Order: sequence, then C-alpha cells, then structure tokens
Amino acid sequence: MPDLDTVVREICEEMAARPDRGTVADYIPELAHVDPNQFGLAVIDGDGRVSAGGDSETLFSIQSISKVFTLTLALGMIGDRLWRRVGREPSGNPFNSIVQLERERGVPRNPFINAGAIAVTDVILSGHEPREALGEILRFMQFLGKDPSIAIDEKVAASERRTGFRNSALAYYMKSFGVIENPVDYTLGVYFHHCAIAMSCRQLATAGQFLAHNGLNPQTGFSVVSAERARRINAIMLTCGHYDGSGEFAYRVGLPGKSGVGGGILAVAPGRASIAVWSPGLDEAGNSHLGRVALERLTQRMGWSVFGV
Ligand code: GLN
Repeated sequence: MPDLDTVVREICEEMAARPDRGTVADYIPELAHVDPNQFGLAVIDGDGRVSAGGDSETLFSIQSISKVFTLTLALGMIGDRLWRRVGREPSGNPFNSIVQLERERGVPRNPFINAGAIAVTDVILSGHEPREALGEILRFMQFLGKDPSIAIDEKVAASERRTGFRNSALAYYMKSFGVIENPVDYTLGVYFHHCAIAMSCRQLATAGQFLAHNGLNPQTGFSVVSAERARRINAIMLTCGHYDGSGEFAYRVGLPGKSGVGGGILAVAPGRASIAVWSPGLDEAGNSHLGRVALERLTQRMGWSVFGV
C-alpha cells in the first residue's frame, strides 16, 4: 500500500500546478471574492493520524456540507419520522431545482438538495427559537471538529440572505404544502447561517470521522450515532451528495461524499479515513472541480473506492 503522506503531498503538488480550476460561485456575492488558486487536503486515518497539505488550515465556507450534519442532528431528534418530511432518492436535478416539488406535494427528494436541507432545518428549528437551533448546530460542529473556535461567517450569511430568492421560493412553495412548520423567514435564517459556517479541511475531516468508523469517534470512543445510522447517512451521501453530479462522483471517486458551493467536499472511506478537500472553483453541477480530481487520485492510489480496488 502506498504511503499516505507521500500520496497526499504528490496530489497537493499536482493540484497546485493545474491550470483548470473551475469557476468560483458568484450567486452568493460574498463567495465571489474567494481566490480560486487555493487547494487544501486533509486525510485522517483510523488511528487519528492526519496527512494534510496545501491550504488545509485555511477556513472556507462549508455551505452544503453542513447538510450532512443537520441531517445527523434531525435524525437524532425525530428518528425515522424525518422521512415523512423528506425523501431519500437522488434527484438528477441541480441543487436548487424546484421542478420535482410540485409532483411530490412539496416533499423534497432528499436531504441534500436545497429544498430537502431547508425542510431538515425546519425540523431542527421546531420548538426552538432560531438562535437556539443555530447554537445547537454550531455546538455540534465545534464538538465534532474538536475546536470551539469554529464559527459562522456572518458576512456570507448576510450575503446569502440578501440574494437567496431561489431558496425563498423553495421554502414558500414547501410551506404551501405544509412541509415547513415554522415561519419561512426563521427557517431560512437558520439555513443560511449553518451554510455559512467556516471551517478548514482539517476541522472538517475531524468532524467527519464518525461516518468513517461506524458512528464512533475512533480516538475518543465516543458514539455520535449508531453504526446503522452512520451507514445510512453514508448511503445518502453516495447517492445524493453531489446532486446531478452524484453518478459521476461515484464513478470516478467511489466514496460517499458531500460537496458545497464554497468548493469543499467531505468524503468518507468507510473503516479507513475521513477526508476533506477544498478548492473554490466549481464544475457545472456546482461541485469542486479540483476537489473531485484530487479525490479520484487519492482513492485510485490508495485502493479506497467502496466498489473495489
Ligand atoms: N447555501 C447554498 C444555497 O443554498 C448552498 C448550496 C450548495 O452548497 N450547493 O444555495
């Protein structure tokens, strides 16, 4: 088996030199300022050993990667009743699409497209003040990322709130079917803020460890979720984590993964490693271009695809 540190170093060198960097998301104006010439990678194995390179300590906007953690929290709160509010089938449509909501009576296809994540956020919010719900989500990220300094980038949250017309449309449309329980502004406020959490690759890979190890943090032995739940969250990441690019990601990388328009991807090599990669330039589906290329290299060289070596 090749040496992980060497593989990570070589991938970081290759990515730093590549001219094809994708396009930085600009529909959230604050994200348009991010320098596309950045790349970071952090891999944490089952013994807690970190192999990292490039800009792995730089904070970036985790955006839709937060949806993995809000799904985990919502399942912890109401269990399988969550599946009355959101489905778990791949959508084959862009992350912000509205088309399937009409046919499916306002129930989003899965928890990782925007409509689904807004419905999940609404579940976390019910019975709480928005401030409490957001505090709950942030503390969960700080706990999993083992870093109390993890925070929300208020500028990004405000920028998205000012321009998030599509998300507002999705939320109001779901509300018309009764899928959203709380005032739409409250639900969207919490959603925009959890998308605006800023983390580094190292913090994110730390936070994802429970998914790679049957729901347990292998260093502390602390159980975050049951093994069954971790397995199922991974299944949804594999089938839905990259929107209409999920098939291509499975084909090329072969790991459960969740992307965000900030250019991050959290990927899980079950039983082996938690991986976070970040490069701000995106492909047409809104997934990090070099992030995907780097993960393809990593799984190929380490033989980590869940589909075989
Ligand atoms: N906050 C972003 C949005 O709602 C998240 C999208 C994403 O990362 N794919 O548009």
